[in-house]
Amino acid sequence: MSNAPGEPPRTATEPPARSAALAILLNPWLNLPRPARATQRMIRASPAVFWFTFILWSMFFGAVANGLGVWHNTLSVATWTRVDVGTAVSMASWQKPELLERSLAEAWTHWWAANGALGVAFVVLAPAVLAACATIAAWLQLPIVHVGGALRGSFARAFHSVVAGIGLLTVLLATVGAAIVSAFHWDWQRLALVATPPWRNEIIDPTALAIVCFFAGWSLLLFWLTCAARAAGDAEARTAPGPRCEGCGYDLTHRPDHGRCPECGLSLEASLNLEARRPRRGWERGDGIARWLSDSVQILVRGERFYQSLQTRRPLRASAAFARWHLVAVGMGAATWLVTMLLGHQKSSSHLVTAVSISLFAAPLMGWATHRFVAAAVTTAWFARQGLAGSAVAGLVLTYESAFLWVFCLANGLLLTSYWLFGDWLTSLLGRQFWNTLLGGPTEPIAVLFVNAALILTWMLRFHRCLRSVRFANF
Ligand SMILES: [Zn+2]
Repeated sequence: MSNAPGEPPRTATEPPARSAALAILLNPWLNLPRPARATQRMIRASPAVFWFTFILWSMFFGAVANGLGVWHNTLSVATWTRVDVGTAVSMASWQKPELLERSLAEAWTHWWAANGALGVAFVVLAPAVLAACATIAAWLQLPIVHVGGALRGSFARAFHSVVAGIGLLTVLLATVGAAIVSAFHWDWQRLALVATPPWRNEIIDPTALAIVCFFAGWSLLLFWLTCAARAAGDAEARTAPGPRCEGCGYDLTHRPDHGRCPECGLSLEASLNLEARRPRRGWERGDGIARWLSDSVQILVRGERFYQSLQTRRPLRASAAFARWHLVAVGMGAATWLVTMLLGHQKSSSHLVTAVSISLFAAPLMGWATHRFVAAAVTTAWFARQGLAGSAVAGLVLTYESAFLWVFCLANGLLLTSYWLFGDWLTSLLGRQFWNTLLGGPTEPIAVLFVNAALILTWMLRFHRCLRSVRFANF
């Protein structure tokens, strides 16, 4: 709620007024385009108001989902039976579909009879389900949010930042759901108009549209939540520790600028001279594709050395753009790869468009999830041991480590291209019988799982080493 003219400006330190409860309640909607503000307001809410807001809008989310179900029921296809001719099923053997239109009231009765109990359960259980999802999301945001203080406090702030996004989540459910329901209705109406078989042509496939909308919605939500997480860190908990030895963390407050660390023997110059230790370069000096590329190559080839010379007391915003461009590039790379692979095949243009759109979103989403999982797993262990107390280096390393996603792209790309070109060569190589009995499944998909699991472990070790090289950073 904005202040009326003439009112004194409200500050963060002001005790919550009575009208603040309403402001919190409407916060997920009023601050929809402002994730940082929505988060800060949510964090300031009293526990009672916060949980009331969360439960109310969670149940509203459940109700919106049910509303979409009822709307979907206003149209259905009556006779979509299939006649099998021997073993082969031809399109010509499909019976002509007949449309069944219902008023909203009829649709409600029909839907209530079929799905009523499930719908009520969905509304009642929505707070519990969304709380569980928000807990996982808050954990994934922890490396960005925790900049000092108690770990529990940071987790609570991360949770509040995720809950602040419930307005966007509901808007996405409503818009993406509406697009999907409309696409299905439009498709059915079109099919009913066609006089002769085949009734399904390839102009638009509602299932594909649903998948594309779903992925695009997720991408927007995760972008919003990441902006929110950057605003959730407790700035007051971030401490600037006195000068330390960058090799071992020894307190150098009362030491001269020259000489050696009495603990590990590292020269004090190497720890205390900003220009010698951490000169600003590459992406830190400004964005640009050349700097982005050269920094990415350095991170991949000499990761620890890169972090040893990175300035850590800088806002996350700049390095967040570095990570964002990697996700965009991964999506474009995946789409290009898929187009190249599909070029030689007889595919309809709608299939091609669908496949490209999905890979444009799906590849970055899978990359994001893997990246955040690795970062959260490793940094939580560091936080629990107080290894990075009072600093924001975890979030910084997280954003720059996005360059490692290209190792996943390369490995998966090579493996999938080899399957595409040479079929089940791996099965022939390893012997079908042996691997089937050992792994209980086809060799090719299991090989993909193995490769990715190995890469995740490698990334965890790498992340650990990178954090070690910045934990005592003075600048
Ligand atoms: Zn030392």
